[in-house]
Amino acid sequence: MTTAPARRHAKYGGVVQRQHKTHTSERGAFAVAGCACGWRGPARRSRDRARADAELHATNPPRDP
Ligand SMILES: [Zn+2]
Repeated sequence: MTTAPARRHAKYGGVVQRQHKTHTSERGAFAVAGCACGWRGPARRSRDRARADAELHATNPPRDP
């Protein structure tokens, strides 16, 4: 008889949130947003756009199973 104790994650108030550490890197004339989770944004011609991509990803990350 095995009963696994139910654990409660009070840390995050029930909501598990992954950390998305985004950064922008430049590739030649383009700026690309990247994330620690492996996500990469499209190549942008302006760094501001890449930063916007990174910000959007960090605030609204894609769901994965
Ligand atoms: Zn991410």
